Amino acid sequence: MSKNIQAIRGMNDILPEQTPLWRYFENGVASLLDGYGYRQIRMPIVEFTELFKRSIGEVTDIVEKEMYTFEDRNGDSLTLRPEGTASCVRAVLEHGISGGGQLQKLWYVGPMFRHERPQKGRYRQFHQIGVEVFNLPGPDIDAELIVLTWRLWGLLGLREAVTLELNSLGSSEARARYREALVEYLSARFEQLDEDSQRRLSSNPLRILDSKSPDTQALLVDAPKLADYLDEESRLHFEGLKARLDAAGVPYVINSKLVRGLDYYGKTVFEWVTDQLGAQGTVCAGGRYDGLVEQLGGKPTPAVGFAMGVERLVLLLETLDKVPAELSRQVDLYFCAFGEAAELAALALAEQLRDALPGMRLAVNAGAGSFKSQLKKADKSGALYALVLGEDELAGRIVGLKPLRADGEQQSVGWDELGERLAACLQA
Ligand code: ATP
Ligand code: MG
Repeated sequence: MSKNIQAIRGMNDILPEQTPLWRYFENGVASLLDGYGYRQIRMPIVEFTELFKRSIGEVTDIVEKEMYTFEDRNGDSLTLRPEGTASCVRAVLEHGISGGGQLQKLWYVGPMFRHERPQKGRYRQFHQIGVEVFNLPGPDIDAELIVLTWRLWGLLGLREAVTLELNSLGSSEARARYREALVEYLSARFEQLDEDSQRRLSSNPLRILDSKSPDTQALLVDAPKLADYLDEESRLHFEGLKARLDAAGVPYVINSKLVRGLDYYGKTVFEWVTDQLGAQGTVCAGGRYDGLVEQLGGKPTPAVGFAMGVERLVLLLETLDKVPAELSRQVDLYFCAFGEAAELAALALAEQLRDALPGMRLAVNAGAGSFKSQLKKADKSGALYALVLGEDELAGRIVGLKPLRADGEQQSVGWDELGERLAACLQA
């Protein structure tokens, strides 16, 4: 016997038990973003490899070791997108929709691919909802992005569980000056650095700030601070952002070591983190990337955005027991019918009910079965009521209405009153 083929490690099926929660989350975010005037964009999952090399940066972890890159039949080097910002910028440029200072407030949702070590909250195919805004340079829009995520946490019941970490990376000149000072400081202590940080010292020294090694972190205590190197413009921008978050009542902490793993950020960077998910605690992250559009061939275009990890947020909702109870209910009503004639009548009645009560969810029993077995299926469906139609009910042009989640006897309802009666029951 041949071995069953399995899914690729780190790439998960989202099973029917889980999809209601995914849809609750995704629909919640979508309607929130609609409410702030953001519009959805959909990009391909595969792009030319060059796009990610040029945007994310050659010496980042993502590009160095996490991308799914392959040659297609034309000999082109293609990559499964590891994130959405690069594709979004590519699309906006390609269609000229950010040219001439046109404001764009965009969002997208979809799978991303990174060859990382799979573990709880870290997968090789994972999903992000991303938001990107083009052509607004000020801190007002950075604040709006953060305020809207704060509203989202409120809607989902997650405010207590997340903390906003905030930093400013300054201008590229300020970062360059800081990088020099940091490299000088760390070079003098090279032997004490962990191996990863030793490698990064020449390639991407700012990422050392993010090192997980306690020894390296101890070294950093007395290292030069990025905040002391900020240019005046970035400092004012950051002050403007903080003032707006204060005004909106969004709590934050300044984390001067927050640098993010992608090269394109400058000025604002932020992460929403939780201590409820173990090591994979960042549920949403983003920042300003005013240089990226130009780097990809466009005119200078201020831009800011973020992406949230859908798996981690779904996991957080489960961990904190914030899953709305009604999500376990597949349908509101389950129609049981006994015998061929009753089945035919039930089918016709069910269609009439669907006309009369849009939004109601009704399953009609298929596959016949005894009273006991049909009611068992009705119960399993999570329905609030079973509709029962047997020979007697058929003769009397009535349906038995049996409550499944509350005490109470089965009642008889005439076919003509059924729509009205069910509307009242489901509203209660
Ligand atoms: P991390 O530090 O956790 O690796 P990152 O800095 O690589 O995250 P981004 O590229 O900014 O993350 O992606 C934004 C969000 O997408 C993250 O905050 C996280 O919630 C989610 N995310 C990133 N990588 C993964 C992954 N491999 N599996 C699941 N979610 C992920
Ligand atoms: Mg990562």
